[in-house]
Amino acid sequence: MADAPAKPISIAMHGAAGRMGQRIMHFMASDPAVVLGAAIDRPDSLHIGQDAGVLIGLGPMGEPLRADLHKTVDVVIDFTAPDATMPIARRCAEGKIPLVVGTTGFEPEQRRELESFAATIPLFIASNFSKAVNLLFHLAGEAAKSLGNSADVEIVERHHRFKKDAPSGTALTLAHVVAKAIGSADFVHGRSGQTGERPTGQIGVHALRTGDNPGEHTVVFGLMGECLELSHRALNRDGFARGAIDAAKFLAGKPPGLYTMADLLAAGG
Ligand code: NAD
Repeated sequence: MADAPAKPISIAMHGAAGRMGQRIMHFMASDPAVVLGAAIDRPDSLHIGQDAGVLIGLGPMGEPLRADLHKTVDVVIDFTAPDATMPIARRCAEGKIPLVVGTTGFEPEQRRELESFAATIPLFIASNFSKAVNLLFHLAGEAAKSLGNSADVEIVERHHRFKKDAPSGTALTLAHVVAKAIGSADFVHGRSGQTGERPTGQIGVHALRTGDNPGEHTVVFGLMGECLELSHRALNRDGFARGAIDAAKFLAGKPPGLYTMADLLAAGG
């Protein structure tokens, strides 16, 4: 007799009415390995009470948008804003529910509290769920290591006009990867006025906000007489959405701990 199919992983989408939340629910709807367990957004959202499937144009999915997590699920995925992530993270820690966090822009203190929950629950945090961007992290580190202080490193990111944090979490991750490789964390965010000559070891980080751009990152390595640029361009949000679902599948059933894209990719995800 054939094995019974594994029970689908029940996922609560926190930030369900947002750009990422909607795209993630879209992919969940066509993936038999997962099921939408709950769709959550802010209490004053106009979509509270609306069926999540109707919201994303697919027809009823049987889960109305709610203002809180009303039942237990296998995993929560969060794409909201830092002040909204913290309460759902505390709720997950209390309920021992694994949590995937895609939200960016945490203050250092929030980030510390968030990471502390990894002692209680499996917690997956990624500033970028795209596989290609995670390859860019690796390549940028290798290039920085190889070129050392002979190159001036500048990181330029572009995002849509609605983005709330700057620079992007991905640009910050890139800056830290480069800093580790060259042994200098002299970050400068934009430049203006009489800034003087550029010191060796400085890492420039620049944020452009324009139109509906889903996200572009370029790491510029400027040398005398030549320039190396490593770039990633998201054409839409699909890579992030698929990566977040893969992270949720990876996290379900794991012991408490802090997991990252490096763990997912090492596991072949
Ligand atoms: P968005 O503004 O379109 O969506 C955010 C959603 O969260 C909205 O529906 C909003 O109503 C909801 N929300 C806000 N406060 C809430 C609360 N208290 N409780 C419940 N829901 C609440 O934003 P977005 O473009 O979907 O991005 C969301 C976050 O994800 C941002 O921090 C962004 O930088 C990040 N992001 C990360 C990745 C990644 O790969 N890690 C990719 C894209 C975006």
